[in-house]
Amino acid sequence: VRHVLTERAAWQGERDIVGADGVPCVAVQTLTPVSGEAGEPARVVCVLQDVTERRRQDEKLRRMARLDLLTNLPNRAALEESVDRAVRAAREGEPSALLLLDLDHFNVVNEALGHAVGDRVLVAVASLLSECLDDRHVLARWGGDEFAVVLRGVAADEAVRVTEELQARVSDYRFDLGFEAVALGLSAGVALVDGALEGREVLALADTALYEAKERGSGRVVVLDSSDDARRSEIARTGQWVRRIRDALRHDRLAVHYQPVVDLARGVPVHAEALVRMLNERGGLIPPGEFVPLAERHGLMTAVDRWVLDHVVQHLERHPSRRLFVNLSGTGLEDDGHLGAVEERVRRALIRPSQLVFEVTETAALRDFQRARRWMERLSDLGCGFALDDFGTGFCTFSYLRRLPVDYVKIDRSFVSSVRRDRGDEAMVRAIVAVARAMDKRVIAEGVEDAETAEALTAMGVDLGQGFLWGRPGQAFVEA
Ligand code: C2E
Ligand code: CA
Ligand code: CA
Repeated sequence: VRHVLTERAAWQGERDIVGADGVPCVAVQTLTPVSGEAGEPARVVCVLQDVTERRRQDEKLRRMARLDLLTNLPNRAALEESVDRAVRAAREGEPSALLLLDLDHFNVVNEALGHAVGDRVLVAVASLLSECLDDRHVLARWGGDEFAVVLRGVAADEAVRVTEELQARVSDYRFDLGFEAVALGLSAGVALVDGALEGREVLALADTALYEAKERGSGRVVVLDSSDDARRSEIARTGQWVRRIRDALRHDRLAVHYQPVVDLARGVPVHAEALVRMLNERGGLIPPGEFVPLAERHGLMTAVDRWVLDHVVQHLERHPSRRLFVNLSGTGLEDDGHLGAVEERVRRALIRPSQLVFEVTETAALRDFQRARRWMERLSDLGCGFALDDFGTGFCTFSYLRRLPVDYVKIDRSFVSSVRRDRGDEAMVRAIVAVARAMDKRVIAEGVEDAETAEALTAMGVDLGQGFLWGRPGQAFVEA
């Protein structure tokens, strides 16, 4: 007040005060000097404005940007900062561990019972996990059904102990789904934070650990640390490949090659299979074997398949008498949005849908039989054909074949190449032909490399053939 009077200048500041009702609040206080009649500083007017509510809103917004709204846990962005802090602390001598946790079979619950039930399960898991952890550790929602924990000040054995405790806690719990209670497992990937890696790398390491844990089954834990040099370079390599695939998609550095499908009785090419290649920066070809598995693991294969489909549709629009076989990745089958997009592309295409035949491997189809059947039914409804690829390498159960609406069965190369030498393989081919015939399906033999094999297959009643004998996959569609 003295300052305001002597300087004749207003003052403003924020103060924590207690209201008459005893409730603490935040106020903005403004002091303004008022002059007397002779112009001398006489009084000060004080105005207090209650801004408690406004401050609370600001704070809420700030927190929301860093909080997961469903579980109220810190979100991905907040966790990344915690990991960076843990890395800095590790460099000062305090080690820690990063856990990535993934609920096993959560998608089954989510799909069978709906997202509302799924959400309830996630909230329950969040509170189970937080009950097991003390305050110095940070529990966050990593996204979907994944959680993350930064365990501060722990070494490897302690990190594993806590992880196993969390796993036991979740697997012992019965989630009430309304009509029954189920148990869920928790898979864990642990990365030890010793300061050698950057935060980003620690996250990638934990992600690799989690991936390996899930590969081994449910409820497993895998621990990795920075000293595992081979793994580190593998992570770096994987990262490079993922970037290359993304770039290739973005810059159209993909190509479709065509391999003729030959009518064995007449010995002439009638259709073709579309096979994708990636182009490197210098235009060189990268075969699918080098990038398809990685693209599948990193969720990029649906985009690749759609790129190929788009390309193939444009080809068929220009050539209305041709028929092309297109591969669908097994991982894409799990994605209903992908199915919708594929259907939509076919609907928009100015082709006869029967010009398109989709291929799904036997293994992928049997991994989730109902789902594979839905894909087949929906695309067959549009008029497209379906082929079961690599037949014989999966379960090869003929009873499944009867229940799948496929038009073609493609016998895998491994049987075809030795059909003249190996009586077991010959019997397999004969059996597949007999069963397929009885079910009105056509048979394609893959990987035919010599004329004698082609003759033998024709004699066994195989309808169509594909292989280096007639041509390797190339840029041109070969016609009779
Ligand atoms: P696939 O669908 O079984 O394709 C047949 C593979 O066998 C092709 O390899 C082809 O070049 C090769 N092949 C054909 N005839 C012969 C032969 O006589 N002898 C031998 N030794 N090999 C033969 P490619 O083009 O390297 O493709 C490999 C795999 O990559 C494909 O196996 C398929 O699973 C996948 N793939 C290719 N293009 C796509 C695509 O657009 N989408 C998806 N999801 N997968 C694709
Ligand atoms: Ca194929
Ligand atoms: Ca095949």
